[in-house]
Amino acid sequence: MPDFKPKDVPVDSACTPGPTRRSFLSRGAVGLAAAVATRSSWAEMPASATENTVKLPQIQDPKREQAEETPDPNSPPDDRVGYAIVGLGRLSLDQILPALSACKYSRVAALVSGDPDKARKAARQYGLREADVWDYQNFERLADNPRVHVVYIVLPNGMHKEFTVRAARIGKHVLCEKPMATSATDCQTMIDVCRQANRKLMIAYRSQYEPMDRMIVKMVQQGKIGPVCEFIAGNSQNVGDPSQWRLKKALAGGGALPDIGLYALNAARFLSGEEPVEVMATTTKPDHDPRFREVEESVHFVLRFPSGFTATCIASYRSHESRFFRLQGPQGWAGMDPAFGYNGLRMRHGAMIDGKNAVTEITIDPNNQFAREIDHMSQGVISNTTPHTPGEEGLQDQRIMEAIYESARTGAAVKIARPTGIWRGPEPSEETF
Ligand code: NAD
Repeated sequence: MPDFKPKDVPVDSACTPGPTRRSFLSRGAVGLAAAVATRSSWAEMPASATENTVKLPQIQDPKREQAEETPDPNSPPDDRVGYAIVGLGRLSLDQILPALSACKYSRVAALVSGDPDKARKAARQYGLREADVWDYQNFERLADNPRVHVVYIVLPNGMHKEFTVRAARIGKHVLCEKPMATSATDCQTMIDVCRQANRKLMIAYRSQYEPMDRMIVKMVQQGKIGPVCEFIAGNSQNVGDPSQWRLKKALAGGGALPDIGLYALNAARFLSGEEPVEVMATTTKPDHDPRFREVEESVHFVLRFPSGFTATCIASYRSHESRFFRLQGPQGWAGMDPAFGYNGLRMRHGAMIDGKNAVTEITIDPNNQFAREIDHMSQGVISNTTPHTPGEEGLQDQRIMEAIYESARTGAAVKIARPTGIWRGPEPSEETF
C-alpha cells in the first residue's frame, strides 16, 4: 500500500506529509499518557443541567501536568497521525481524548475550543503546548501546523458541515461525529468538498468498530441465523435541561431520532447488510413539555427492505435509559442488551444446539471502540484507503431520517431511493488494543 506522501495534498494546501505506513506499524502502543476514562457506560450521556459543567478526567500522576508543560526537545518526533479535536464538550473530554492515548496510529496534536481556559487545561493534561490550542475563529491557521493531519469534529450537529468544509479547504482530512449533519443537502456538500480537496471524510459510527457488533455482522454473513427476517431495537433516555442544544432544531436537526434513534437505524443497515426501500413512522411532540418545543420527543419507525427483512425501531427522549436490539432469522437470533453504549455491553445468541433451544452469552470487552474507530481513520490516511464509514454512510442515514420525518408528517409510507454503488471501504481491522 502506498505511503502517505505529499501527492495526497492539494497544491494550495499548507498541510505537510505525515509518516509512512511502515513507521506507523513498527510503533509500540501507547505514546501519550492520560487517564483512561472510567465514566459513563452509556452511548449518549443523558443531557442534563450538568452539560456545560464538563469536568476533566483526573490525571494519574499529579506531577505530570507540570512536567508536560516543557516538552523534551531531544525526544524523537511522534510520527502517528495527528488529530485536532474541535469542540471540547462531554464526548471529547470523557471519551475521545482518553481513547487517543490508547491508539496505536493516532495521537492528539491540537485542540480547538471556544473556551481558552478549558482548552489550556486539557492541553496540559494531554501533553500539548499552549501553542497547540486554537479557537473557532483562528481555526484556518491549523493549515500551517504539519502535526495535524485529521480534524475530528465533535461539535453540535448543526456545525458539522461548516467545520468539515473549513477543514477540507485547509488540506486536512475529516473525522466527523454522528449524525453527519442536519440535512442531506449539507451531507452532500461535505462529501463534494472533501472529494474536491482530495481529503478523506469518515463519519464516527463507533458501533461499526465495536467487536460484538462486528461478530454479529460476521454471523449474518456466515448464515448462522439464516436469512435475516426481523430487527427490533430501542434507544431511550430521559433528557434533562430544556435549554441544551440537543433540543434546538437548528443545532440538533431533530430530537430523539438523529441523536439516539440513529444508532438503531444504522445498526439495522450495517448488521443486515441491506438498504431499506420504504419506511412508515410516527413521532410524538407533547405541547405541555417545554423540552419539546422544537424537536420530537420520540419516534417509532418500521423499515422495509427488499428481501422482506423489516426493522422496527423506537427512540425516546422521555423514557429511562434502555438500549437494546435483536436480529432474528429462521436458524437463530443475535442481540445486545445493553446495546449502543461505551461499555457494559452484553451480547447473546440463540440457536438450536443438539435439538434443544440454547442461548449463549458472549462478552468481548468493547472498551476502546473509540480508539478502534480513530485508528481505522488513521490507517485509511496512512494507506490511502476509503474509510469503512465514509461520508456516503452518513448521507444514506440522513436521507432515511428525512423519509422518516416525512412519513410521520403525512401519515403515509414513504419510499426510499436505493443508493447506487458500493461506498463502504475495507472492514475494520481485528486488531485489539
Ligand atoms: P456537548 O454539548 O457536551 O459538547 C459540545 C461542544 O460544542 C461544547 O464544547 C460546546 O462548548 C461546543 N459548542 C460550540 N458552539 C456551540 C453552540 N453554538 N452551542 C452549543 N455548544 C457549542 O456535546 P457532545 O455530547 O460532546 O456532542 C458533540 C457531538 O458528538 C454531537 O454531534 C453528538 O451527536 C456527538 N456524540 C457522539 C457520541 C458517540 O458515541 N459517537 C456520543 C455523544 C455525542
